[in-house]
Amino acid sequence: MLPTMDAPVPLESPPCPLCRSSAYRTVMTGARDMIWRKPGTFRLQRCEDCGLVATRPRPTPDALSFYYEDTYSGETDDGENPMRAFQTESGLGRLISRYRLRVLEKVRRLGPDDRLLDVGCSYGGFLRVARAHAGCATAGIDMDAGSIEQAVDAEICEYRTGRLVDAGFEAGRFTVITFFESLEHHSAPIAALREARRLLAPGGMIVIEVPNWNGLWRRVFRTAWLPLLIPQHLFHFTPKTLAAALDEAGFEPVAHRQTMFYPLEGVASLGIWLARVTKAPPPGSPFTWRTPLDIALFLVLVALYVVFEWPSQAILQLTGQTGHQMVIARKPGGEAAPEAPGSKAQ
Ligand SMILES: [Zn+2]
Repeated sequence: MLPTMDAPVPLESPPCPLCRSSAYRTVMTGARDMIWRKPGTFRLQRCEDCGLVATRPRPTPDALSFYYEDTYSGETDDGENPMRAFQTESGLGRLISRYRLRVLEKVRRLGPDDRLLDVGCSYGGFLRVARAHAGCATAGIDMDAGSIEQAVDAEICEYRTGRLVDAGFEAGRFTVITFFESLEHHSAPIAALREARRLLAPGGMIVIEVPNWNGLWRRVFRTAWLPLLIPQHLFHFTPKTLAAALDEAGFEPVAHRQTMFYPLEGVASLGIWLARVTKAPPPGSPFTWRTPLDIALFLVLVALYVVFEWPSQAILQLTGQTGHQMVIARKPGGEAAPEAPGSKAQ
């Protein structure tokens, strides 16, 4: 039976995908869907053998589709599609894509001969920016059929719906494969990485951006931490477990960087925490006696954002504790790609 807003969700507890161990220790309890406020309380556990943190037990695949409904795609009542507009048209959406491209290009320049696959491509916003910049051939795949149906530039970009391991792309077809905020959603992340390795030409690059479980705000805000995204995020990587996952899938490390995703991790996490402790109604609720209090709290958060978020992110970047990380690795073999000027692997 599929879960509803009232029914409990069916759960499963598979062994660790990285080392096959079933020895786990609980590291966080009481995690909930703080963004869409769907039901269910979840636990996070760390594998005792390799250290990879998992949402465990986790919803079964059918139950997970309930958590994705009306989240990553879908129109509002007035026929708008705010997620698509944000990713593909808004200044901030394009800025995030250009930021990711810049991090990649510190290691590897993209050119017209490149063949790029974005896994978890959503509406294709990053592919559009990469194509405009480098003139490369692009393909995208996403589990969410609604996003792929409305993906941008479908006449010049090849899109597929479903899991990467089922997509049947030809071996060696791509030179660069990206996973931006997507690997942590995969129920079998090592199998996805192995498939990516098969699809890459020798010497091809894989680029992965995921939340950083070692981030400072994760430890401060715990279950209110914005990038936790429970239960859609099934795995929670540290720099060490991410490197181990890539090694297990047969990649050679090239670079690791501390990154920002949306530059509102600290203040948004504080907002989630405040909303919870003051039992704030969800956004868009009818006006009540406490609405002026909620508006005042919101204005305080906006003021804090202006003076606090950017400087704090800069400090976290220097100390290796931002909420996100990006890793670049290489499939062995082939000619070593020439390094871009000024490139320096960390
Ligand atoms: Zn393990």
